[in-house]
Amino acid sequence: MPPINILIKPASGSCQMRCEYCFYADEMCNRETGSYGMMKPEVQEMMVKKGLQAAERSITFSFQGGEPTLIGLEYYQRLMTLIEKYNTKRLQVSFALQTNGYGITEEWAKFFAKHGFLIGISLDGPKDIHDRYRKDGKGEGTFDRVMNAISLFKKYKVEFNVLTVVTGHTADEIGRIYKFFRKNNIVYQQYIACLDPLGELRGKMEYSLTPEKYGKFLKRLFDLWYEDMSRKNYVYNRYFENLAGMLAGYRPETCTLLGYCMPSYVAEADGSIYPCDFYVLDDYRLGNLMTDDFGDFDRRRTEIGFVEASAKHEEECLTCPWGYLCRGGCRRDREPEAGAGIGKNYFCEAYKEFLPYAKDRLVEIGKMWIGRK
Ligand code: SF4
Ligand code: SF4
Repeated sequence: MPPINILIKPASGSCQMRCEYCFYADEMCNRETGSYGMMKPEVQEMMVKKGLQAAERSITFSFQGGEPTLIGLEYYQRLMTLIEKYNTKRLQVSFALQTNGYGITEEWAKFFAKHGFLIGISLDGPKDIHDRYRKDGKGEGTFDRVMNAISLFKKYKVEFNVLTVVTGHTADEIGRIYKFFRKNNIVYQQYIACLDPLGELRGKMEYSLTPEKYGKFLKRLFDLWYEDMSRKNYVYNRYFENLAGMLAGYRPETCTLLGYCMPSYVAEADGSIYPCDFYVLDDYRLGNLMTDDFGDFDRRRTEIGFVEASAKHEEECLTCPWGYLCRGGCRRDREPEAGAGIGKNYFCEAYKEFLPYAKDRLVEIGKMWIGRK
């Protein structure tokens, strides 16, 4: 077994916020049990014990939700004790956590800094853009609370990056968003294309991101990023950096650029394991930490052909001049209608517009930056 990464949902899909485009709230509506509540101590212990037994060399515990801080700081303090108890092979252990920033206090920030957590925090840009979709339970904007969390991370030197959901609206406003991030010295940026609800035709929601808007967004963001990078102002952008790396001969580190899904383990609060965050659905359950081990999860993943199905591509992709960079993209974007099977990527036209536009400059950036970091 190689190094492993377990993506854990200790508070299942529970969240204090009600973001309009939340894909996990949608997944919860599409399975028999919506929320699995809070992870019980015995499930947590089994997860640490079996994870550390199964992994070789290193292991990453990545926490997500819903909102993973809702389970309370004690859960994470206990995690450290459990790791000490079960890490008999002395594996290298890393931690990551994705938060909405809503409940971050000095205590959380100090804890993250002390244990070297890499934090992802959701921020969609300046106040009016962020508050448009990212509201709390009372329907109020959450921008101020997120910015407060970011200042605590800066104060305690917590390593963090900002995760921005790209909606149709965000796509139009990317110039203003990028400028806002740069002004606030937010250098580590990740952008995730917004999903439409499962089982519905794409592009029909008020917030929907269409291929046309996504293509324009990628081009505009790339121009801004390129300008900074060529002036030696480093800005992290996972997608662009991976593309530049691929053109310089490196293997991408994100599954969406591999051409097939990466085998991974997503743990729900009850200990059930799934193959990807986008597929925490009943038909994709690989087993449960309380009764099965990691070998069982791998066997079940092969039985349902999760990775194998994603590796089959349309004729158009196989002969596409941009296929070597696009690789077909994320499987979830290749299932435009649930149950319709895996086909061509919904954002195909965006990639066909963006990749030729950026390629030469990506090669240049690859030569300038890759290998230096
Ligand atoms: S569905 Fe997308 S995110 Fe999930 S493993 Fe496949 S490529 Fe990665
Ligand atoms: S650009 Fe379109 S056709 Fe080409 S590989 Fe990507 S999804 Fe397939």
